[in-house]
Amino acid sequence: MKTKIVVTVGPAIDSEDMLRKMVEQGVRIFRLNSSHGDRAYFEKVIGRLKALEAELDLSLSLMQDLSGPKIRIGEIPEAPWDVYKDDQLIMGLPGRKNDYESSLKEENARWIDLDHPEMLEVLAAGDTVTLSDGGLQFHVTEKIDAHAVRLKAHNSGLLASKKGVAFPGKVSPLPAFTPKDRQDLAYGLELGVNVVALSFVQNAQDVESLINEMERLGHRVPVIAKLERLNAVENLQEILKLADGIMVARGDLGLECPLASLPGLQKEIIKACNQAGKPVIVATQMLLSMVENPVPTRAEITDVANAILDGTDCVMLSEESAIGNYPLATVQQMIQIGNEAEKFAARHNPGPIAPRDQSDPAWFLAYAACLLAEKANVRALVAHSMSGATIRHLSACRPEQPLYALSTDPLVRQFLNFSKGVLPYPVKEQLSDHLDRTEYFVDSCREFATGEAVVITAGQPKPRQERTATNLVKIYVK
Ligand code: ATP
Ligand code: MG
Ligand code: MG
Repeated sequence: MKTKIVVTVGPAIDSEDMLRKMVEQGVRIFRLNSSHGDRAYFEKVIGRLKALEAELDLSLSLMQDLSGPKIRIGEIPEAPWDVYKDDQLIMGLPGRKNDYESSLKEENARWIDLDHPEMLEVLAAGDTVTLSDGGLQFHVTEKIDAHAVRLKAHNSGLLASKKGVAFPGKVSPLPAFTPKDRQDLAYGLELGVNVVALSFVQNAQDVESLINEMERLGHRVPVIAKLERLNAVENLQEILKLADGIMVARGDLGLECPLASLPGLQKEIIKACNQAGKPVIVATQMLLSMVENPVPTRAEITDVANAILDGTDCVMLSEESAIGNYPLATVQQMIQIGNEAEKFAARHNPGPIAPRDQSDPAWFLAYAACLLAEKANVRALVAHSMSGATIRHLSACRPEQPLYALSTDPLVRQFLNFSKGVLPYPVKEQLSDHLDRTEYFVDSCREFATGEAVVITAGQPKPRQERTATNLVKIYVK
């Protein structure tokens, strides 16, 4: 299938044997969540993946997912609490409960700690607050003072200690890149992660902070911005200028916006990424019931297929692969769904997608190559690219043909795993001419038969010029 699969690594697949099985199924992108694994865990898993990468001579993407500023309530006494509709809670700074005795007596309100004075300060009467990772909805009925608010429940449910709390639509004053993330990033890069995802991004500055820190460490790798805040969706264009890719993180995004608006947001975000020529991942609950069951629901199958038809580059597994009972069956299921969805898309294929900005010559050249591949009905597109930019342009045109991507830089190849339809390969550096390298690849690659034609793109420098952007499109017959 052309769509890529991201698997989250956890106890269900972190053995050598299971990681190998994942790679054998075609998985090339592994997500390591810093919220659930420490340095020792990363070291163990990355060691196994690097060994597989070397042994099988392929490019594996190891994506570190930084936790970001997830806001949680404090410990609650005699947890869990039953909360009933219309119950009142007062949320305030830890240790300050006694200052609000008289307010607590009104309506039998109960007290919960929130160690985030900056959030308490910006809350106002009428604001929505969700607790229990979205399970419980409240609204602010009274701003008692700058450090405490009264909440009223919209529904009933259980409330446990340290649960996630969200303030839909509020701009959080907390930057996405936290001190914990800084520490986690340092060891992640040291151990060899080659992509970093940043949680709870709100704006371009959040992405910039992460990039600045990588540059300070002298180790820059591509960045995926996780879109899980409404204001991030509003700032998508500025975020897209800095981020190398985007994740539609539907879990926390679903707490920030009405659940029913998620499908529309997903489509808008995917379209914006496609138009920017940057890879996008759709994540969360894609085949969630397969944590427990060997077969997914009809709704889940349809969700995965629709994400693919929306134009996503990657679909992601979270609990399904991290702690599920059927991780291998889940990946196989995803491949089947992907193959069927792509067959359907091929039957209705209107041809390569033109770049939105047709004055961008590099992108237009890639589009021309895709048109040529279609009209000449060739077996594949084969592109040599130093930075990967041409290949992302080719991928964004969504050609029907597979896209063989040759690059000398392992980091470029590893990130190309995220782009739909792209198969990254190393190149013979003994040949200096990029066109020669590409033709040599076609001649020696067993996937192409003699007499088969491909469309090649490469950069052909002038005499004495070291390198150039892609400037050549050619039909080549093996
Ligand atoms: P995020 O909001 O970043 O998705 P999450 O808490 O939802 O964070 P996921 O990575 O999506 O975490 O994984 C889903 C669940 O799988 C987690 O809640 C956790 O219970 C479990 N999990 C994930 N990774 C690990 C791990 N390395 N070890 C143990 N459990 C894990
Ligand atoms: Mg999250
Ligand atoms: Mg998750």
